[in-house]
Amino acid sequence: MALLFNSFLIAHLYGNLSLHFGQIFIIFCLVTRGLYPAVFAALIGSIGLYVETHNPAFFINSILEILVLYALSRRGWVLLVADVVYWLVIGIPITYVFVIYFFGISSSDFIQVIMLKQLLNGVLVVSAASLLRPFLPTRWHRLDIQQQLPKLSYRIFELSMISILLPSLIITLILSNNSAKIAEQQASELLGVQADHYTEITRNHLTHHQRMVDNLANTFSWQPYKDKEKLEFLLDAQSQYPDVFSMLITDENGYVIHGAPQEFEDTLQGLSRAEKMVDDRLYFQVPYSRNTHYISDVFQARGYGNDPIVAISSPYFEGEQFSGIVQATLNLANFEKFGAGTSGFSVFVIVTDAKNKLVYASEILNLEPLSEFLPEKIEQVYTDELPLLKLSEGFFLFKNRVTEGGWKIYTLSSPDTLIDAYKNDFYNLIVSLLIIASIVLLVVQKFSKQITRPLETIVRHFSSNEPIPRKARSIYSSVEIESVREQLQQAQHFMLEYQKTLQEQVEEKTKELREANDKLALVSVQDELTQIYNRRGFDQNVKNAFAVSIRHATPITMAILDIDHFKNVNDQWGHAAGDQCIIMVAEEMKKRFKRDSDFVARYGGEEFVVFIAGGDINIHRQMLDELRLNIANHEIYYEEKIISITVSIGAYSVKDDLNITYDKLVSNADKLLYKSKTSGRNQLSAGQQ
Ligand code: GH3
Ligand code: MG
Ligand code: MG
Repeated sequence: MALLFNSFLIAHLYGNLSLHFGQIFIIFCLVTRGLYPAVFAALIGSIGLYVETHNPAFFINSILEILVLYALSRRGWVLLVADVVYWLVIGIPITYVFVIYFFGISSSDFIQVIMLKQLLNGVLVVSAASLLRPFLPTRWHRLDIQQQLPKLSYRIFELSMISILLPSLIITLILSNNSAKIAEQQASELLGVQADHYTEITRNHLTHHQRMVDNLANTFSWQPYKDKEKLEFLLDAQSQYPDVFSMLITDENGYVIHGAPQEFEDTLQGLSRAEKMVDDRLYFQVPYSRNTHYISDVFQARGYGNDPIVAISSPYFEGEQFSGIVQATLNLANFEKFGAGTSGFSVFVIVTDAKNKLVYASEILNLEPLSEFLPEKIEQVYTDELPLLKLSEGFFLFKNRVTEGGWKIYTLSSPDTLIDAYKNDFYNLIVSLLIIASIVLLVVQKFSKQITRPLETIVRHFSSNEPIPRKARSIYSSVEIESVREQLQQAQHFMLEYQKTLQEQVEEKTKELREANDKLALVSVQDELTQIYNRRGFDQNVKNAFAVSIRHATPITMAILDIDHFKNVNDQWGHAAGDQCIIMVAEEMKKRFKRDSDFVARYGGEEFVVFIAGGDINIHRQMLDELRLNIANHEIYYEEKIISITVSIGAYSVKDDLNITYDKLVSNADKLLYKSKTSGRNQLSAGQQ
C-alpha cells in the first residue's frame, strides 16, 4: 500500500512540491506489527518516492522516522509529538543537506519551503495514521508488542491536536496553493506588462532617433545646403540627442563629408580619402540601393569603449538623385534609464537584437553585452505555469516579446517573491499551530486532571475499603463519573457485607471444627459409655507412665477386671441393665484410683484395666481387693429391680524388673485374671516378678 500510494496517489502542491501518503501505512505497520516489519515497509515504500524524485533522502528519512517513532512511542510519547520532534531534529537537517549538496537548489526561500513541506507532510501523515488507527481491525495487532501506555492527558492532547491539525493543514495547503497560483498569475501579468513596456521603450528609442535622422536627411533633400551648413545641422542634432555618439554625412559615393561632434569632425579631417570611404558599410549600402532608412544590428563601438551600438541611416536626394546618407550611431548603454519605474516586485530586463545578440541586460544579471542570449526553458521547479530559465545568477521566471524589427525583450523576475508568500503561509500555519498546541496542552492537562482526579479519589476509597463519599467532592464531576461512583459504592457495600458474612461464617465453622476435633480426639481415647479411657487411650498414656516407672524402678501393678457371668446379666435384665453395671464398675474404679499416676480404662466389653504406679505393691493389692468388694456390695437399682455383680481381677506387680515389656505385663495380668475366673470368680489373683 505504501509503495502504491507513494507511486500513484501523490497530491501535487505547487511547482514540483507534492505530498506523499505512503508513510501512513508504514506507521500502521509499526503500531500493529512492530519495528522490523515497519522498517521493511519503509524500504519498499521509499522505492516509490525514489523512482518519482530520484532523491535518496526519502529512504533515509522514512527509515529514521520509523526508528524514532518506535523509540519515542515506547517511552509513552504521542506519535504526533514524536514525529514533530523527528522532523525538527533529524528530518529537516537531512533534507537540507540533500537539497543543498545533491540537488544544488540555491533559493533559500525555496529550501525553506521544501523543509516546511516535509515537516507538514510528516505531521499530516502521522495525524492521518493516528486518526485512522482505531479503525484498524484488532486482529491485525500483534499482541506481543509491548508499548508503554501514554498518559490520559497525552491521549486527549493527541486527539485535540489531530482534530485541529488535519483541517488546518488541509485548508492551509489549499489556500496557499490558491494564493500561490494567484500570485503567479499576478507575476505573469506584471512581467507581461513590463515586457510590453520595455518593448514600447525599445521601439520608441529606436524610432525616436530614426525620425531624427530621417528629418535631417529630408532637410538636406529639401534644399541643397552647402557642406559647411550641413556640418552645422549635424553638430546641432548630435548635441541635442545625448544617446547619439556620433553622426556623419556622406556624398553619393560613400565618402564621409562631415562628422559630429566636433572631435569626430576634427579626426575626420585628418584622415585620407580612402579612410573616409564607408561605401562598404551596410548603413550606406542599404539606403543607397533601396532608398530607405536602415537600422543595423547591434555591434560594439570601435573606439567608443565596449558599449553596444546601432547605426541608423537615411538617404538624402537632390531632386530624384541619391546624393548621400545621414548616419547616427546610437549608444544603447544608457538603455537602463528607460526601464525605471517598476513596482516593488523587482523585474529585470534583457533586450537582444534580431540575431539574439545581447543589447541590454539589467546589471544584476551579470551578462556580457553582445554575447549571444538564447534562453533555455528548464523544468519547472517553483511554479505551475510561468516558464523558468537559469542564469549564472540563479533561476528566473520570465516572459518575452518580439518587436517588429525582430528585437526580443525579456522580463525576468526571481521566483523568490512567489515562494516567499508560499513560505510565509507555511510559517504562519506553523506559528499558529504552535500557539494552538501550547494552549491545547495547558487546557488538556487541566482537563484530564479534572477527569481523572474524581475517579482516582473514588478508586482510592474503594481499594482502601474506606466508604466512598455519598457525593463526589470535585466540582468537575460528570454524569459518567457519578454513575461510576454509584456503582462502585454499591459494589463496595455489597463487598463489605459479603466480607462480614463470610468472616462470621468462617468463625462459626472454625469453632465447630475445633469442637469436632476436640471431640474426635477425646472419642478416640475415651470410652463413650463410661467416660474413662478406652483401650487405645489407656495404652497411649500408660505406655509412657510404664516406661518412666521402669526407668525409676517404681513399683507398679497392672490389673485386669472382668465382670463375672455378665452374659447372664444381659440375658436376665436386658442390655441396658448391663450397661448400668458397666457404668457402675467404671465409677467405682474412678473413685478408688484418683491419683495422677493411676490409670483406669475400659479395655473392651465388660473388661477393665487399672495401672497403679508408686507406693507399695501390697497397698495396690489391697486397693484392688477393696474395689472388688465394693463392686460386689454395690446394688444397682434398675427399673425397680436390684442387680448385683461381681468381678474377677488378675493383678501383676513389678518392683524393679527393668526388662519386662508392657505387653508382657498385660499378658501376665491376663493370666492371673484367668486364674481368678477358674478358681471361682469374685476374687483377686495377684502375682509379681
Ligand atoms: P465370665 O464370668 O466367664 O466372664 O462370663 P461372662 O458371661 O461374663 O463371659 P462372656 O465373655 O461369655 O460374656 C461377655 C458378655 O458381655 C457378652 C456380651 O453380651 C456382654 N457385653 C459385652 N459388652 C457389653 C456392653 O457394653 N454392654 C452390655 N450390656 N453387655 C456387654
Ligand atoms: Mg469377659
Ligand atoms: Mg465376664
